[in-house]
Amino acid sequence: MLLRSAIIRASELSFVKRMVRRSRLFRGVVKRFIAGDTLEESLAVAETLAASGYLVTLDNLGENTKSEAEALLAKNTYIEMLRRIARSPQADRINISIKLTQCGLDQGVAFAERNYREVLAAAEEVGNFVRVDMEASAYTQRTLDIVYRAFEDHRNTGTVLQSYLFRTTDDVEEAVRAGIRIRLVKGAYLEPESVAYKDKADTDRAYVAQSKRLMESGNYPAIATHDERIIDSLRAFEKEKGLDRASFEFQMLFGIRRDLQQSLKDAGYRVRVYVPYGDSWYPYFSRRLAERPANLFFILKSLFRG
Ligand SMILES: Cc1cc2nc3c(=O)[nH]c(=O)nc-3n(C[C@H](O)[C@H](O)[C@H](O)COP(=O)(O)OP(=O)(O)OC[C@H]3O[C@@H](n4cnc5c(N)ncnc54)[C@H](O)[C@@H]3O)c2cc1C
Repeated sequence: MLLRSAIIRASELSFVKRMVRRSRLFRGVVKRFIAGDTLEESLAVAETLAASGYLVTLDNLGENTKSEAEALLAKNTYIEMLRRIARSPQADRINISIKLTQCGLDQGVAFAERNYREVLAAAEEVGNFVRVDMEASAYTQRTLDIVYRAFEDHRNTGTVLQSYLFRTTDDVEEAVRAGIRIRLVKGAYLEPESVAYKDKADTDRAYVAQSKRLMESGNYPAIATHDERIIDSLRAFEKEKGLDRASFEFQMLFGIRRDLQQSLKDAGYRVRVYVPYGDSWYPYFSRRLAERPANLFFILKSLFRG
């Protein structure tokens, strides 16, 4: 946990950002997690995954727009993604994930909500679904408020809950009541002790309990983790309760635990791969490094391999 916070804090220093962005060494590692620079590149990756039986969610990287103009550009990109996916032979297996701070949440709630609703309307036109990623806890309540309001008018949306937050057990109950689709994750941001578990074992326990609740009573939940021990225990739960495998999906990130993605798919589960693309990869990349400091050793190893 300490190492994780140290990596996140170091990644925020401007000279570290410059070094990582420019270094050729990091390029190879970045490619492991990011499907390409452009929509066409990432869509080709998504189509290959879809053709081999996976479901996919595409993510145009970026967060915290600095101006309304930047947010409008992001909104247009989301709409373009939806229209482009609609022309794909794999359209029914690919949806998108978006961030409200990329829709302009820092510029205002009403502004971001308008942009998000436009994306939902565009998704409805092509029969697709839009997942709203969950960001740092300072945005949680605003994100849920916006998503729930939009959900009253657009059923083709859902969001993400993070088990490391104390509030999430209540948020899961609210989601079950509302019938909204939830992706459950452990949580990827550095949070203060006042809002989140510091001990990983507490997060893991909450994750299992909340997953079970969603699998039994939620609306097509997404169990998004690479934690094999947890996945095994949820598979045992699914059998014990006689749940329908098509009533939920597993989700994992592009480039992480491909072996597990494949074995779950081969065992007949629905597995969706989260495929990020674009040049604003730095924050996403540093969260992936922080989750698994062994990734840093992987970088050092490639350094010595030349
Ligand atoms: C589809 C998807 C969408 C997500 N969306 C969000 C979101 O909207 N908001 C949010 O806060 N978080 C999101 N996350 C990230 C999530 O919160 C966790 O930070 C991340 O999934 C790592 O936790 P874990 O559940 O895999 O378990 P961990 O206990 O962290 O890891 C379990 C095992 O998975 C493998 N692993 C995990 N991370 C890595 C990595 N980076 N590199 C290599 N191996 C790794 C390792 O084998 C590790 O032992 C998402 C994750 C997924 C899979």
